[in-house]
Amino acid sequence: MSDCIFCKIVNKEIPSEILYEDDNILAFKDINPVAPVHVLVIPKKHIISVNDIIDQDVQVIGNIFVVIKKLATQLGVAESGYRVVTNTGKDGGQVVGHLHFHLIGGKELGIKIG
Ligand code: AMP
Ligand code: ZN
Repeated sequence: MSDCIFCKIVNKEIPSEILYEDDNILAFKDINPVAPVHVLVIPKKHIISVNDIIDQDVQVIGNIFVVIKKLATQLGVAESGYRVVTNTGKDGGQVVGHLHFHLIGGKELGIKIG
């Protein structure tokens, strides 16, 4: 999607602080962190939201959680704990229309985030 900011990050058309990359997944630091650790993990494929996940996406979605687990360890929050958040649609507070998983940690999180 040419007008999608996360596709532009995937295509290196705009800069980001990349923490992990493989053929299908990219993880980069959130530009507006809400906690000491705030990483976005995304499929490189332009999937708009959870609503748009199809059977063929199951493997990449599963692999995203393996990446999240490894990043949590690397970033030092696996033991202290963290939150994985996916906002979906207007009421869910989704701003960027490219599926993404927030990995948030490094402090005790309140009930409300995002
Ligand atoms: P959401 O509200 O779930 O759609 O979250 C979108 C997230 O993308 C927010 O936490 C933003 O801070 C983050 N974001 C927006 N633009 C960028 C960017 N260029 N690089 C990194 N993170 C971004
Ligand atoms: Zn996109």
